[in-house]
Amino acid sequence: MIDILDFHTHRLDATAALIAVDPRRFDPQPGRWYSVGFHPWDDVDTLSDRDFELLRQCAGHSQVLAIGETGMDTRRGAALDIQASVFVRHLQLAQELGKPVVAHNVRATQYILDARRKARLDDVTLVIHGMRGNAHVACTLLDAGCYLSYGPRFNEEALQATPLDRLLLETDDSEVAIADVAALVAHALNLPIDEVIFHISSNAHSLLSR
Ligand SMILES: [Zn+2]
Repeated sequence: MIDILDFHTHRLDATAALIAVDPRRFDPQPGRWYSVGFHPWDDVDTLSDRDFELLRQCAGHSQVLAIGETGMDTRRGAALDIQASVFVRHLQLAQELGKPVVAHNVRATQYILDARRKARLDDVTLVIHGMRGNAHVACTLLDAGCYLSYGPRFNEEALQATPLDRLLLETDDSEVAIADVAALVAHALNLPIDEVIFHISSNAHSLLSR
């Protein structure tokens, strides 16, 4: 039974969480769930075919439920065309394996959606993690079928524009507990915390157990 509350963390000891790791550091532990990918801040401009082969092998592991962290960042990392081509390779793998993609998006919404469309991979489900954009950005991503994953810092109007069936929560690299993220989000949505937790866990379950 896949029971995930924290959709994206880098904490290797996290439970009820999707732990994002680089395939070169993938070391699966019992009872834990993972996503694997090359982060756009890392050395994506020097990845070899062997690295992508390793990604493919790890991505097929039974405890790997999603592909990522991948994505694009206009503020940091390699040249954008390189970021885009590495991102598309993650999308291709996700489509092959029928798994969603956890995407980092820093002021790169249009680049990400364009790269996916040009590669004709619009049917790959994207989870935009660490969602901090405004309501306009949220609506653009929601119209493109994305799920939005919120951490402890978020734009309230964007959160309020996110339907409960597209909502996910995460801790990413923060020290905040996922229960505290859920409390912040519940407060901003004026909903009981149990209701928020019900939605995020059922969304995670339906996304990851396809
Ligand atoms: Zn992250």
